[in-house]
Amino acid sequence: MAECIECVVVGAGVVGLAIARALARSGRDVLVLEAEEAIGTGISSRSSEVIHAGIYDPQGSAKARWCVEGRQLLYEYCARHGVEHRRCGKLIVATDDAQRPRLRQIESAAHANGVTDLRWLEAAEARELEPALRCVAALHSPSSGIVDSHGLMLSLQGEIEQAGGSVVCRAPLIGGRAERGLIRIQAGAADETVSVTASMVINSAGLGAQEVARRLGVAPPLIPPLHYAKGSYFSLRGSAPFERLIYPVPEPGGLGVHLTLDLAGRARFGPDVEWVEQPDFVVDPLRSARFYEAIRRYWPALPDSCLQPAYAGIRPKITGPGEPAADFVMQGPRQHGIPRLINLYGIESPGLTASLAIARAVVGCVQAWDAT
Ligand SMILES: Cc1cc2nc3c(=O)[nH]c(=O)nc-3n(C[C@H](O)[C@H](O)[C@H](O)COP(=O)(O)OP(=O)(O)OC[C@H]3O[C@@H](n4cnc5c(N)ncnc54)[C@H](O)[C@@H]3O)c2cc1C
Repeated sequence: MAECIECVVVGAGVVGLAIARALARSGRDVLVLEAEEAIGTGISSRSSEVIHAGIYDPQGSAKARWCVEGRQLLYEYCARHGVEHRRCGKLIVATDDAQRPRLRQIESAAHANGVTDLRWLEAAEARELEPALRCVAALHSPSSGIVDSHGLMLSLQGEIEQAGGSVVCRAPLIGGRAERGLIRIQAGAADETVSVTASMVINSAGLGAQEVARRLGVAPPLIPPLHYAKGSYFSLRGSAPFERLIYPVPEPGGLGVHLTLDLAGRARFGPDVEWVEQPDFVVDPLRSARFYEAIRRYWPALPDSCLQPAYAGIRPKITGPGEPAADFVMQGPRQHGIPRLINLYGIESPGLTASLAIARAVVGCVQAWDAT
């Protein structure tokens, strides 16, 4: 007979783990199914690890709301649970006068999103903070920061298990169907599958979310397309010239080749934007030419031959090149017709920052089901 579980969360990335933790802490029986050998090996393992302030996304969008709320929750969470992080701040820089209006637009968008601590700096003020920087103006965001994302995921997993939930790795969801108000799912490899009957399923499978939805019987026209936008990073040989994160004004599909710092103070640059047909994680050393050019606009002293290929991540985009950027999508039974199933699509940046807020929204949805 199939095992009965109240909530199955598919995917043990930062978002799935945050959701499972919130469900487990609300007293529910939770099982997380992860296809890979370990938690956090998907999109969540290849990010910039930046805690975003909530500056860029359109007012009222889920990205903007959950980023602002999630940032606050994340700082509180990290402080309470000893997850390493640093509120190092960030500068968004205009490198010529033509970019000033764009910087002003970013400032207003941030304000509309409730980010009220940005400060406009003229070039000299920016250079007082970061002497190596070249810019004509900058926005200083003191509430941006960095986090040890793997430490965060381990902490979330610990809390799930403490609350009685389990995380099972090497257990891909391979099929399922809705039956009399429950969802019967199969998980595991071909030679060893298990059946689980769940009262609800949360599909938080990142790049696998569309496939999981198909396997659960969601009608294909209701599943958004999946486009892969690869982002490559190069790390800096030698010590970092900046104490804060440095971002140019955004480019289509991404935030521009920015400088982020890790918690050990090392600098890396990226991610750029490359639309690919299939995910691959190889960093092409030839892409460094564009990086040198982009970085020298705000850091002219970048020495030759000091960038080395680091790693690449894949953004799970639901709109393609040239199309307007899409919002996070949380699809419930009203949209896809399957009771007690939530699908999360397009959880790209700022998904790490927003993870605890996304989890709150999912729990809110589940509580609303219980109330009806
Ligand atoms: C290049 C890049 C940089 C980024 N930088 C930042 C940043 O600085 N700040 C920020 O806030 N956000 C950032 N993000 C976004 C952030 O990393 C993601 O939003 C977040 O990690 C997504 O987490 P997730 O749990 O949805 O997906 P994932 O981490 O991919 O987790 C999904 C999991 O589902 C599993 N899975 C897939 N199919 C199945 C199946 N059939 N059965 C079971 N399990 C399955 C996968 O193995 C995976 O572990 C960045 C993203 C990218 C790509």
